[in-house]
Amino acid sequence: NPTARIRNFSIIAHVDHGKSTLADRILEKLGAMGERDKRDQTLDTLELERERGITIKSTPIRLNYVRDNGESYVFNLIDTPGHVDFNYEVSRSLAACEGVLLLVDASQGVEAQTIVNAYLAIDNNLEIIPVINKIDLPAADPESAARELEEVIGIPAEGAVRASGKSGIGIPEILEAVVERIPPPPGDPAAPLKALIFDSFFDAYQGVILFVRVLEGTMKAKDGVRLMNAGKNFEVDKVGTFSPGLVVGEELSAGMVGWVAAGIKDIQDAQVGDTLTGRDRQTDEAFPGFKPAQPVVFSGLYPTDTEDYRKLRDALEKLKLNDAAFSFEPETSEALGFGFRCGFLGLLHAEIIQERLEREYDLDLIATAPAVVYRVTLTNGEIFETQNPAEFPTRDRIEMVEEPYIKLSVMLPEDYVGPVMQLLQERRGAMQTMNYVGKRVELVYEVPFAEILYDFHDRLKSISRGYASMDYEQLGYREGDLRKVDIMVNNEVIDALAVIVHETKTYSLGRKIVDKMAEVIPRQMFPVPVQAVIGAKIIARATVKAYRKDVLAKCYGGDISRKKKLLEKQKKGRARMKQFGTVEVPQEAFLAVLSTE
Ligand code: GDP
Ligand code: MG
Repeated sequence: NPTARIRNFSIIAHVDHGKSTLADRILEKLGAMGERDKRDQTLDTLELERERGITIKSTPIRLNYVRDNGESYVFNLIDTPGHVDFNYEVSRSLAACEGVLLLVDASQGVEAQTIVNAYLAIDNNLEIIPVINKIDLPAADPESAARELEEVIGIPAEGAVRASGKSGIGIPEILEAVVERIPPPPGDPAAPLKALIFDSFFDAYQGVILFVRVLEGTMKAKDGVRLMNAGKNFEVDKVGTFSPGLVVGEELSAGMVGWVAAGIKDIQDAQVGDTLTGRDRQTDEAFPGFKPAQPVVFSGLYPTDTEDYRKLRDALEKLKLNDAAFSFEPETSEALGFGFRCGFLGLLHAEIIQERLEREYDLDLIATAPAVVYRVTLTNGEIFETQNPAEFPTRDRIEMVEEPYIKLSVMLPEDYVGPVMQLLQERRGAMQTMNYVGKRVELVYEVPFAEILYDFHDRLKSISRGYASMDYEQLGYREGDLRKVDIMVNNEVIDALAVIVHETKTYSLGRKIVDKMAEVIPRQMFPVPVQAVIGAKIIARATVKAYRKDVLAKCYGGDISRKKKLLEKQKKGRARMKQFGTVEVPQEAFLAVLSTE
């Protein structure tokens, strides 16, 4: 069997349970890290990933493992992201594997994402090797972590490996378990080519680089290949493996994980989940394919300087090359001018894209509050989906509004069940199940997505003293009694500030927004009213007070460096403001709805 010495696996865990650290230890043990590039978290490559300690892309790496008896194996290890926004990346990486290491932090036990990820592995028929990690911690309780895995997910506790990615305990046992317990990949290298695309990125010189898992057949340079769903033919330029980084190889055959460059210019042709086959010798059946990741959160991005519109468009196009889940289209706002409506997988994804635009492309942006997509049925029977609260129709034209719901699972110590249930009640949640796991509880709720979008995670963490964890999946649309609340500054409606809210919350949210805005809008020579309105009805009002005296006058005659500093500070601040008549509205005000009360 030509694949007998190959093992393809992934590491899955709740965020912070130590995936990247363990992956590093494995790389180190198998000699894949030279002393020179021995820095922490080798697989987290994007600068932002390092800084924030999160993994966004699924990074594969090929390793050689030699057993004590001299047998040599090829391991393909795929690191996966740990944040719910990127769950779809996890599921597509798993499709390239036969097994997983399921890590559980011995001091934390099973968390919400442990459960979700374990079920993803089970759904993909993968062999699960449970690893109780961080056993070096004084607070570690490996026994109960293992017991929780057995109770909640049904994974036998005696099969769990005890390890510490930090100190290296248990690494040899993990490597042996990979050989012994994960089956070698099936597949016939002589059959027609059948390879699964599980990720891709755009390279300026080689075009799209496809990450593939070959199921059957063999592929090498000069071969004619076909993307079955796209229905397009290409010629292979190069194939290779990950070491880490791209290493050119001779060929890729059944069971292997590697990359292919085939002069593909458009990333839209190279959809993740598509099947690569031979141009002349085709496989019978394509993979069923993944559901393409749909953006679920939308926000308007506008350059603070209107001159930067084209620069912003170019930057968005570049980012899109490497991120099929991100979308954008031109949008015009009366208040903000020309910009783009951008779609994201979640708030973290949105934050990351904005940060990259500002950092890597040197843009100053105004971002409008993130919103979900509403489905509106008009009285004339027409149905349309709106991602932009500004274009939400007036009430007399609406027959029905539907909003997206999620299935939310929260894991928490039983002491906090009361307050968390109350929070979920406030967020219009409906409880589905409640399971006890030792002294902890798993709550499963159905909740409107918009209700957890803003400050939910922060509130959950604060009322549970940081102990609760959550994960969710999209459920689909349900009817809701939703209203559009407009915000007026100095008696003018600012379209980009509109929000959609449930009928029961219009007053409290209107209050929160106007108060926050009155706090952040700089004072003028005259008082500026800020109002929340529904149609013609004012539901909340606050005032930006006028200067009591000319505070700037104080600075004149002061020492020169202080004055300069002040001017510089003013200039910086101005970059993130928008002028409305004489009133300046800072970026913060556009996100007033996100602020925690
Ligand atoms: P990931 O989010 O699952 O990739 O987790 P990381 O590998 O980034 O680790 C999260 C945090 O836990 C970091 O601060 C690590 O230093 C720490 N950590 C990871 N593994 C261990 C371990 O085995 N023991 C201890 N004490 N800390 C660890
Ligand atoms: Mg990580």
